[in-house]
Amino acid sequence: MTERRLLAIVSTEKDNRIRCQHQGCNHPVYSAIHVVLDDSQLKVIGSTCFKQGYPDLHSKTDLTDRFGEKGRKLSPDELEKLMRNTEQLVAQLEEEYKAHIKAEKRRIAEIERQQQESAQQRLHAIIQHETQRQEAMLLSQQEAERRWHEFNEKVAKKTTELALIATQREHTRMLPTSNWVNPKKSALALRLKDGTSWVRCEDLNGQQRLFPVETLQYENWTLSLPTRCAQADLSTRSFITKNVIDALFILRTRGVQFECVFPSFQHALSAAKGDRH
Ligand SMILES: [Zn+2]
Repeated sequence: MTERRLLAIVSTEKDNRIRCQHQGCNHPVYSAIHVVLDDSQLKVIGSTCFKQGYPDLHSKTDLTDRFGEKGRKLSPDELEKLMRNTEQLVAQLEEEYKAHIKAEKRRIAEIERQQQESAQQRLHAIIQHETQRQEAMLLSQQEAERRWHEFNEKVAKKTTELALIATQREHTRMLPTSNWVNPKKSALALRLKDGTSWVRCEDLNGQQRLFPVETLQYENWTLSLPTRCAQADLSTRSFITKNVIDALFILRTRGVQFECVFPSFQHALSAAKGDRH
């Protein structure tokens, strides 16, 4: 099998021109001389003959890059070497080229290394930025959660307070009269024209009291008697009288509908409630 290979492109001074070795040419050439390996024979060929005789070897590719359009300029010594021992010169050029390639590879590797390094730096910067962004996001999430938690705590606290107040109210409302009324003492039932009903009774301490019946309807029951004659007692929802005569007098001025003394508080209470139908 015939091996054809372009080994180098060289040039020389016009005065030192050489003969083209292409078959039947023998023209003098000095620029873009193609050194060709043609079936184990080295030949120096002019560019025109090369184009015609070796269309399969494209000088325009890597060898042009390597030697330039006109070829590597040869010194007189090298030219002599070309004429005497083409093979040796080609070997020398090959070495030269290899060294050049080596340097070029190093240069490219260095460029790649720098590119990688700056890519890595960019990536690092992106990661750092992303990390900071996520940290900031996490912080704001934590802050939002903290605020939500704080809000819930406030709501829970308020709810507890309200529940406590409700319990206290319930407790106050539910405190049974049996806890404080002396059941053995007589009591007065009093129903007035303003719609209110009262029981005058005596507590276990022997104090006279005025008990407004169904006070739930009268939110401001504590204001229904002046403090100079009666003191509202929230725990029993009754008035402890300072002056029971005055207090009764004030109530009676509102118009008496019914008034009667009973042997016990319970009787009086029933009468105050029962006659209202
Ligand atoms: Zn020729």
